[in-house]
Amino acid sequence: METIIKIESLTKIYNPLSLNPKLALDQVSLDVKEGEFIAIMGKSGSGKTTLLNILSTIDDLTKGKLFIYGKNIYEMSETERAHFRKENIGFIFQNFNLLDTLTVKENIILPLKLAGKIIDEEDFKQIIKDLEIDDLLDKYPFECSGGQSQRVAVARTLVMHPKIIFADEPTGNLDSKNSHKLLTILSHLNQRDTTIVLVTHDPMIASYGKTMMYLYDGGIKSVVQRNQATQ
Ligand code: ADP
Ligand code: MG
Repeated sequence: METIIKIESLTKIYNPLSLNPKLALDQVSLDVKEGEFIAIMGKSGSGKTTLLNILSTIDDLTKGKLFIYGKNIYEMSETERAHFRKENIGFIFQNFNLLDTLTVKENIILPLKLAGKIIDEEDFKQIIKDLEIDDLLDKYPFECSGGQSQRVAVARTLVMHPKIIFADEPTGNLDSKNSHKLLTILSHLNQRDTTIVLVTHDPMIASYGKTMMYLYDGGIKSVVQRNQATQ
């Protein structure tokens, strides 16, 4: 499988010039291959969010290299990088990040509007049907339950058809039933060729991944492939 994003000997230091520099990631190397489903685990403060933000190109690294489709990101122009993000990357957050002044439907189509794209009604209908949110379209986010809100947020990501989805503790505000529902949706997307990089501190949630990676104090402690683990 093709490597989409690759980091080599990545080091991230927050506030490097201050009296309290914080080494958040220490020489981490990792390939994200097409079709992967990686669950990044580790306790609070181990560097999970930092790693996710650097892989998804929304934060800069301090030392090391980052490649996207084989291209060194620091040799890409800002326009090229922005284009890569817009065309390839989707995010799902712990707190859903829905706008309370917009209806569910308006929230879902917002990224299309921002990108100046036309809504494909058939595609839209299929997405809301798959996510079982078809009867919520005229409601506002504050009228939705946590599980419904997260599925609306997933729909908002899916209308853009990202090749890779980054999710940081997406089940952090969900009960176990809705957590499993969300992970089942992500697994189905993965089976249909969406690459997934998920951060969680919950081993049950991580067990949906094909690869489980444990961070400890800013380093990779272990990597477990699920099919090997179950043999
Ligand atoms: P996790 O997501 O695993 O809880 P983070 O990646 O958020 O861990 O944080 C890793 C370490 O870096 C922690 O010690 C955290 O306090 C520190 N850190 C995170 N963000 C910043 C920041 N913006 N400035 C300074 N330190 C930070
Ligand atoms: Mg975090």
